[in-house]
Formats: sequence, structure tokens, C-alpha cells
Amino acid sequence: MKTLGLLGGMSWESTAIYYRLLNEIVRERHGGLHSAKLLLWSFDFAEIAERQHGGDWEGASALLVGAARKLEAGGAEGLVICTNTMHRLADTVQAAVSIPLIHIADATAVAVSRAGVKRPGLLATRFTMEQDFYKGRFIEKYGLQPVVPNQAGRDMVHRVIYDELCQGIVAEASKSAYIDEIARMRRDDKIDGVIMGCTEITMLIGQQVFDIPVFDTTRIHAEAAVAFALG
Ligand code: GLU
Repeated sequence: MKTLGLLGGMSWESTAIYYRLLNEIVRERHGGLHSAKLLLWSFDFAEIAERQHGGDWEGASALLVGAARKLEAGGAEGLVICTNTMHRLADTVQAAVSIPLIHIADATAVAVSRAGVKRPGLLATRFTMEQDFYKGRFIEKYGLQPVVPNQAGRDMVHRVIYDELCQGIVAEASKSAYIDEIARMRRDDKIDGVIMGCTEITMLIGQQVFDIPVFDTTRIHAEAAVAFALG
């Protein structure tokens, strides 16, 4: 089994979920006392979020690259950035190390395509919904047509991620707001699936509340990482 290097703490709420999933999936595959071989770099998320919201992607990049190099030097054989948003820097991070990066959007796009979904709704941070690094990959590399909420919907989804989920708050009102937004997108935008494109959204909603396919990027990414580790 290869050792995975996790860039986590963005936020730690979802990194904790990754940690459990990675270990559970290895146990499912190998049984008994087997568990994942992991190195974890866990950021103080306040330092990352400040740079994201200030548009200082270079500063954020320096932090991620520095940590990725430390993980590689510590023996990591594959890199997992435990957040969708920070895949904005995936190419830069990949270029700074010689171990492969397991890309969350690639793993998700493969799952979406396999399910026959063409126009998935994308719920994520404002950065992931509005910038091109994530949606662009779905469109150009996989021929999919991701759809994002309207301005009011994007504001709501983003606010819930940073003000609630990343702070460990799971509110019934926010769950309803997400469900209503998806219902609106089904009606107005004809979406045929839902990408939970932020690794904390799994704390709030899941397949159980929808009757179209739902793609939980935290689980999908963890499964891809274990597939790599177990080769
Ligand atoms: N973990 C979230 C994501 O998957 C949001 C927090 C972050 O900006 O990293 O995008």
C-alpha cells in the first residue's frame, strides 16, 4: 500500500471525514486490522480563508506548495488536496512535487459521466462555482455541462459553507435552503444530478434527500485516493 499525503484542515471538519473514509475504505478492501497509510498536513484554515477572500492566491499557493513538499519529503507517494476549492492551485502544487496528485474534479467527472448525468448542478464555494478551474475541467475534459445557482443561490451556498459547515454548525434551515435551491435548478435549469462540490456539504445533505444522482466529492475523492494507494 502506498502512503498518501493529505493537504487538509481546509476545513478540518471535512478532513476528519476524509480520515475516517480513507481508513474505512481500506478496511473494506483488505479487512481485519488494515488501515490507510497517511501523512497529514493540517492548516490553520483562518490563514487560508483570509487569502482566498482577499484574492491572494499566490500567498495561498506558497503555503500549499510548502506543505506538499514537506509531505513528499516525509514519504508521501501520492498527494490529496482535501478540498475542491484549493484545486484552483492543483497545477502549481503538482508542478512543485514529483509525486502524483489525485485530482478531485477528475474523480468526480468520471463518476458523473458513468452515471449518465450531463447537466449536474454544482454546489460549492463561490470560488469553485464562479471561477473556471473546476467547471472548465468538467466542460473541456469531460464534455459535461455543469450548472451553478443564480447569484442569490451562490451567495447562500457560499455563506453556509464558511459561516456554518466549516465551523461545525449543521442547521436545519440551511439544509432546507440547499434542497430548495436544487429544486429550483431542476425546474429552471433542467439539472439531472447534483455535485456536492465542497467537501463539507456531505455534513448537510446527501443522496437520501434527492431523487436524482448526487455526487459526494469527499467520498468520491477518498475512493480514488484509496484506489491509487492500493494500486
Ligand atoms: N472544503 C471546501 C471545498 O471543498 C471549502 C473550504 C475551502 O475553501 O477549502 O471547497
